[in-house]
Amino acid sequence: MSTSYSEVRRKIERNERITPEDALLLWREASDDEMRSLASLVRARFHAPNSCTYLLMRIINTTNVCVAQCDYCAFYTLPGQTGGYVLTQEQVFAKLDELLALGGELAGFNGGFNPHLTLDYYCDLVRAIRTRYGDRIELYAFTIAEFLYLADHASLSYAATAARLKQAGVRWITGGGSEILTEDFRRRHSKFKYTVAQFFEAQTAILAAGLRTTATMVIGFDETIEERIEHLERTRCFQDQTGGQESFLCWNFKPWSTPLGTQLNNIEISPKEYLRHLALSRIYLDNIPRIRTSVLTQNERALEGLLYGADDFDLPIEDEVTQKAGATISLNFDRILNVARSLGFEPTCRHVALQYAETLS
Ligand code: SF4
Repeated sequence: MSTSYSEVRRKIERNERITPEDALLLWREASDDEMRSLASLVRARFHAPNSCTYLLMRIINTTNVCVAQCDYCAFYTLPGQTGGYVLTQEQVFAKLDELLALGGELAGFNGGFNPHLTLDYYCDLVRAIRTRYGDRIELYAFTIAEFLYLADHASLSYAATAARLKQAGVRWITGGGSEILTEDFRRRHSKFKYTVAQFFEAQTAILAAGLRTTATMVIGFDETIEERIEHLERTRCFQDQTGGQESFLCWNFKPWSTPLGTQLNNIEISPKEYLRHLALSRIYLDNIPRIRTSVLTQNERALEGLLYGADDFDLPIEDEVTQKAGATISLNFDRILNVARSLGFEPTCRHVALQYAETLS
């Protein structure tokens, strides 16, 4: 006998786990108000209703040279083409100095699969940052996608690559580069960017090495709702097995200047669809307490995500990858924080560098 929508709703109210079929039913039949109220109910199991946290951060794009050729990317340049760059350590330091001056303390590193850069380039960079800044800055260095390329390029196992990076001072390798974790999606759009199986194999090795990690997701390409749910299901299963994903961040595809965007007439998903997906993620991912909403791609509308299950957000000052595809960034942090306040939330800065240093002591 098939489950009805009201049974799914009762499951969520009774704090029972929903299945992929339940999620599909919920997506199709729940109104926006119902999604919002169910997600808030689940959120309240982890967080005080009016609380939320944020991070002031930047993403540093170390190189735009990339061989992966994802069709949703406006950022990369092929090796040998004009316009390719690799940041020097001094250029990275200047970006970190600017971040610190603005009160930020988290730098995410994200760049292309550059065949001219060795694992040593990345290890030397992290070592130099740790020497210069100590624990004043935390680094999300690097994403799992880059990690996979570095391991391949160096002909090292995932375990050996993770050990090398850890020794250099890396503490986090985030779930970036996951986009939609279905094999078919990856074949359609990023066939040189590793399989789903490799992604989780790498993430397992990262955790086994004692590094920290996160989960991410990007929606708004041409993926089906079933593919979105498959991504959530894989994320939840991995979290059941490891408990190692410290947060889940979802953002949306920015289509401008990308081959896929041209095919899709540069149409972005609506803020409402994004918010509904956040709500679904909060309900589905019953084992990940921290669900993050994306100011980078939704601007001030992202704060409404706090009403749809999210409890955390970034105040970004740079990410060339999404900016090249149409993302706009505001440095008017007070204005953004005031939007959260106007919705009834009291945002607290999450001092991630300090937090990590404390767990080490
Ligand atoms: S999304 Fe990343 S891996 Fe894919 S082409 Fe762009 S820079 Fe390369």
